[in-house]
Formats: sequence, C-alpha cells, structure tokens
Amino acid sequence: MNIHEYQAKQILDDFGVPTPHAEVASTAAEAKEIAARIGRRVVVKAQVHAGGRGKVGGVKLVNTPEEAEQVAASLLGSRLVTNQTGANGVPVEKVMIAEALDIKDELYISIVIDGDIGAPVLMASTEGGMEIEEVAEYSPEKIFRVAGDPLIGLTTYHARDIALALEVPAGALRATTKLITDLYRVFIENDCSLVEINPLVITQDDQIIALDAKINLEDDALFRHPELAKLRDSNQLDPLEQRADKADLAYVKLEGGRVGCMVNGAGLAMATMDIANAAGAPPANFLDIGGSADQGQIEEAFKIIMADDDVEMILVNLFAGIARSDVVAEGIVAAAKETNATLPIVVAMRGTNAEKGIKILAGSGLNITGAPDLAGATVAIKQKLQEMGGSN
Ligand code: GDP
Ligand code: MN
Repeated sequence: MNIHEYQAKQILDDFGVPTPHAEVASTAAEAKEIAARIGRRVVVKAQVHAGGRGKVGGVKLVNTPEEAEQVAASLLGSRLVTNQTGANGVPVEKVMIAEALDIKDELYISIVIDGDIGAPVLMASTEGGMEIEEVAEYSPEKIFRVAGDPLIGLTTYHARDIALALEVPAGALRATTKLITDLYRVFIENDCSLVEINPLVITQDDQIIALDAKINLEDDALFRHPELAKLRDSNQLDPLEQRADKADLAYVKLEGGRVGCMVNGAGLAMATMDIANAAGAPPANFLDIGGSADQGQIEEAFKIIMADDDVEMILVNLFAGIARSDVVAEGIVAAAKETNATLPIVVAMRGTNAEKGIKILAGSGLNITGAPDLAGATVAIKQKLQEMGGSN
C-alpha cells in the first residue's frame, strides 16, 4: 500500500529521523496560514501517490504566504501527471507546506527487500535528486548497496559504511549514521516494502535532513498495523482500480494493449500475458480473481475488464482448483448478458468442473469461444483477430 509524503514524514518523525518542519493543507487559505506561521521561504508540495512532482510543477519554492496561497490554489483540485502516473494523472486533494531548506548537497537512500538474498537491502548514492533513474541506468557504480541481516538487523558499522559512502561532511557523520540506523528501524518495524528518501540533503550548515519521503507498506502485513491501514487513500487509485479494490480483486492496467485478461493467480497471469502477446494480441490489463471468488465477484471482475476502453477482446484463462469452472462460467455469462457484451470472449478452462463450465459458455448464445487449453485459446484469439480485421 502506498501512502502520502506527509504520512510518511509523520512516521519518520516518530522514529527520530530529521525532516523539515511542515504542515498539510486542504485549502489555499490554510496553505497561506501555514506559510505565515512558518514565517519564511516555504515549499508547496502536491500530495499524491507518485514521485516526479518536481519536474512538473508539483513542488514549488515560494517567498511569501500570498504566493503559497496562489500555488496551493492552482494545485488543489487539479490532477498531476508525472512520469510515474498514467496519462490521466492523480488528483491533488492536499498540499504540504514545508519550511524551505538551503541545500548544499542532494543524496539518495532507499531500503527494499531483495528477493534473491531474502533480506532488506539499503541503496545509497551521492547522486540524489531528480535524476536518480538516470544514475541507476547509466552509472550504476555510483549506487552503493548493503544488505541488512534479517536476524541481526543493520549493524552500526554497516550504517557508518553507508554514511562514509555518501561522503557527508565530517561534522554530519554521526547524525547520518544514526539516521540510517533509524531508517532501517522504520522499514522493519512498520513492515515496509519500500522506504526511499530522495533527496536526503546536507544543508548549508551541515545538517542532514530527509527532504522527501516515500514509504510503501507491505499489504500482507497490514493486519499487524491497524493504525497504518487507516492511511489508505483510495482516491489516488484510478476508478477501475478502486472498483477492483472494493470487490477484493487485483486489477492491473497495462498500457498499449487490446486484450482484457481474467485469470486466477499471479503466475497464471504472467503466462497468460505471454500467450496473448505471442498470439499477436498484447494485454490491455489483467484481473486476478484469486482462488475463491464467488459468482458476484466474477461478474464484477468481468464488468471491470469491459469498462476498460482499450479492451477489444477478453481472454479468460482459468486453472480451477478451489475455484469452480461452472461458477466462473455462470458469472461471465450473467455479466456479459447484463452489459450486452458483443466483443469476442475466449475462455480456456481446466480443472474442477471444466466441462460443465465450457457447456454453460457454449449454450449461452454469446460471442464466447470455449477452449480446452491455452494452445486452443491461442488459435481462437488469432481467428478472432482475423475476423476483427486487426490481425498482424
Ligand atoms: P519529487 O520530485 O516528487 O521527488 O519531489 P521532491 O520532494 O524530491 O522535490 C523535488 C526537488 O525540489 C528536490 O530534489 C529539490 O531539488 C527541490 N526542493 C524540494 N524542497 C526544497 C527545499 O526546501 N529547498 C530547495 N532549495 N529545494 C527544494
Ligand atoms: Mn523526491
């Protein structure tokens, strides 16, 4: 789960990581008040679930409370499009007003789980700021990595090594070592999947401060943190993702595709997307119905896929174990009838009650082709593409 910068900053504050003084506002008038209270140059920052704000006017330095008010007025109620959002952008419902810092140097530090070694890994670089993606791509040697030990944690000498690699001024070495240790505790104790501070700054007077804060929380551990679960802001999701979220389904939009994919399980989703691509029909999305969806959820899943404007054809690939093919088939037929779906639907079903499921689809009178397996589904997709005149 993604959270906002002002929420991540609160967590950092609680763990003793230094951040700029800041408050959050929902109206331009509040923004002005806060800026006046801070009483010096401030930065107005759009609160959205995406980075890359600085490059598109989502982060602005201003000199007076009146300017803060103006910038807040233009951001609030707008949608911010950054290189990390889709073309629709994300709504700006809050802005954070932070005291502006005099920056000497912008550094980078993040913590993620490295699946290969099964441990959290810290990444740090002297090249922080808005071009970190380019650093990762063109000069990866400038990114320093250290793994934490799941049992021992992050030792002080590791934290000190990272601080040294960041080439902080001698006077800031102690504070940086402490900050790194505290950041690691933030990651572990909140069950994060990502903690990223970009930039971590050295100020003109050699203070080390987390200027930006991005935290992702591990969904599967949220039950252990009811207070963090409350930070969810589903308004930041696109409308179809919101619908899927409510129905307990996992929906992922993919750019540039034309086939909607309904599957059960993430591994099957990957295989299905490969097959769709191989058949010349790139996926526009995939929706994972999981193992135990009921007919109502299947109907909603189907409607969500249909509501995606890019979808010209639907591929259902089901490997029924706990899920039952006949229930899925009933759900598809009900949703297709209700929405007057005319676009072609190719369904591959195996496992529990597969024959029954295929019979239900075949008898539905809808534009549905049942296939016994994925090879059959590929043939059916190619055939449909030809009928649609969009074959390549
Ligand atoms: P992002 O673009 O969404 O990652 O937003 P950031 O919070 O990282 O801000 C983007 C950039 O704005 C930073 O890399 C800084 O260069 C600049 N910036 C943000 N806050 C301040 C500040 O208080 N003082 C100065 N001088 N620059 C700032
Ligand atoms: Mn940033």
